[in-house]
Amino acid sequence: MICLKSERELETMDRANALVHRVLRAVEEAAGPGISTGELDKLAEEMIRADGGIPAFKGYRGFPATLCTSVNDVIVHGIPKSKHRLRSGDLVSVDCGVLLDGFYGDAAVTFGVGTVNPEAQRLMEVTRKCLDDAVAAVKPEGRLGDVGAAVQVRAEEAGFGVVREFVGHGIGRALHEEPQVPNYGKPGHGQRLKPGLVIAIEPMITGGSWRVSIDDDGWTARTEDGRLAAHFECSVAVTAGGRRVLGLEESIHA
Ligand code: MG
Ligand code: MG
Repeated sequence: MICLKSERELETMDRANALVHRVLRAVEEAAGPGISTGELDKLAEEMIRADGGIPAFKGYRGFPATLCTSVNDVIVHGIPKSKHRLRSGDLVSVDCGVLLDGFYGDAAVTFGVGTVNPEAQRLMEVTRKCLDDAVAAVKPEGRLGDVGAAVQVRAEEAGFGVVREFVGHGIGRALHEEPQVPNYGKPGHGQRLKPGLVIAIEPMITGGSWRVSIDDDGWTARTEDGRLAAHFECSVAVTAGGRRVLGLEESIHA
């Protein structure tokens, strides 16, 4: 079932997502050579609870942490660890979800620690552009396929892989609502985008093959070929006039 949100519900979701983006900015600022992903996780949990939120991932199907910290060849769902210290040159994807006043926020960023190699830099920049293109494709009476196609075209033109195993999703009173939001598709196809729909768009792009392998911990999703991966995510509301990226001041109004 698709749940369309009222203006008032969107305001709450905006606040939930603003908290997520504040946490992501703080984590990126704190990240540097020598800090552990476990320490970043602690920082995130403290910030969320201080603002009256609840970490959305902790306990979700048994996931043990507030953040997903996915380093280098890990695409998504990396588990923060006190022993995992970041090193200069690491490519780090951080995903954060928050429950605030009954609604979820969900967003992710990828950044480099110190200086990353040019290929990592290009992968990060292209993945960011995939998200920007996908957001720009969100229009009332547009289609879900427009969103997926925007990601796919940008990534594949750059010679990168588009992960198929994981997709974006509707979001609201549940972390994962309908519809699924794949990072591939055909323009003009798929579900129609109605005002009030909120979707978390999250391109997961790889430096090589899009094939995934899961570690024995049951969570950590890596590229099968060991190449780097990047992940950006934001939650976007379809509005009567266009779209609104939730939790960001620079909301895009078409
Ligand atoms: Mg997420
Ligand atoms: Mg998500």
